[in-house]
Amino acid sequence: MKITDIKIEKFYIELTEPFKVAFAEITHSVSILIKIQTDEGIEGYGEAAPFAPVTGETTEGTIEILQLFRQGLIGKNPLEIEKLHAMMDHLAHGCGSAKCAVDIALHDIKGKVMGQPLYRVLGGYQNEVQNDVTIGISTPERMAEAASDYVKNQGYRILKIKAGIDPRDDLRALKQIREAVGDEIRLRVDANQGYDISRALFALEGMKALGIEAVEQCLPDWDLEGASCLKKKVSGIQLMLDESIHTTKDAARACRLEAADIFNIKLMKCGGLYRGGQIATLAENFGLTCMVGCMMETKIAITAGLSLVASRKAITEADCDSFLYYKDADNGMPGGFTRTGDMFRLSEDPGLGLDISF
Ligand SMILES: [Mg+2]
Repeated sequence: MKITDIKIEKFYIELTEPFKVAFAEITHSVSILIKIQTDEGIEGYGEAAPFAPVTGETTEGTIEILQLFRQGLIGKNPLEIEKLHAMMDHLAHGCGSAKCAVDIALHDIKGKVMGQPLYRVLGGYQNEVQNDVTIGISTPERMAEAASDYVKNQGYRILKIKAGIDPRDDLRALKQIREAVGDEIRLRVDANQGYDISRALFALEGMKALGIEAVEQCLPDWDLEGASCLKKKVSGIQLMLDESIHTTKDAARACRLEAADIFNIKLMKCGGLYRGGQIATLAENFGLTCMVGCMMETKIAITAGLSLVASRKAITEADCDSFLYYKDADNGMPGGFTRTGDMFRLSEDPGLGLDISF
């Protein structure tokens, strides 16, 4: 089997309302979709969702990198995934989302060749995933209202709350959210690098009292030593790293420094499913667990992310919810998974199991 061509296209995602995190406000998003074609008629779909504040990539730059990869991929066997990752790593440093687009498309092809859904191609631990839902920063009242709506009307039982601007405001909002949803609902926080060590210690104490189970990325991405120091000082609340962990090497260093309890794997940071699986293996052997998060991604990367969660025992959490903020949650792509409340069941169709035409 040989790759014959790769089609690269921009895809615009319209959001229902602006989404605010500690360092940016997002109104719409642009993804790059690719289609890898083969001489046996099997096609694989992939997606790059570059987000400069996190991956340092732009839309146009990612398209250029994908065009570079295209030259290296044509004529190669799409099932030689390790070899093709080595080729991409040789051609470009970083560029996680460009590598991710190729990686997802190669796995879609592999699934179609095997006649098996992606969750089984990747390990097949289970076929159902409990997903959380994220609440952006707003007034404590509006955040509590949104939390209550997700829990009471949409069946979500795990909420991820964005924080990190001011610890006192964060604690005020979290208190109102806890009161609105009750004690049974699992709450996690994402500080998106917004604290320093002393503010993090203050915030974590307050959060522990409110029954918050985990806090993501308290400190700037570069400060793994700080994360390690924080972890030694804090107990009774789990610490997660997101922006600090891009590559498998970052994960290895964080394991050595004992800097986290949980890694937030994102396909766009690490370069796709293959590397994501390697981070999960590393974490598992150091006694950590993983979550799979997402960027503003279409159903292609969301389905890939949920499939990775389902496939592996060490990946216990899913934060693949960005499609909830889209005007069209399906991005015009039926299939992939079905949702009942907060449970997402993956399709049994081969590969991604998505019906895409481009
Ligand atoms: Mg995060």
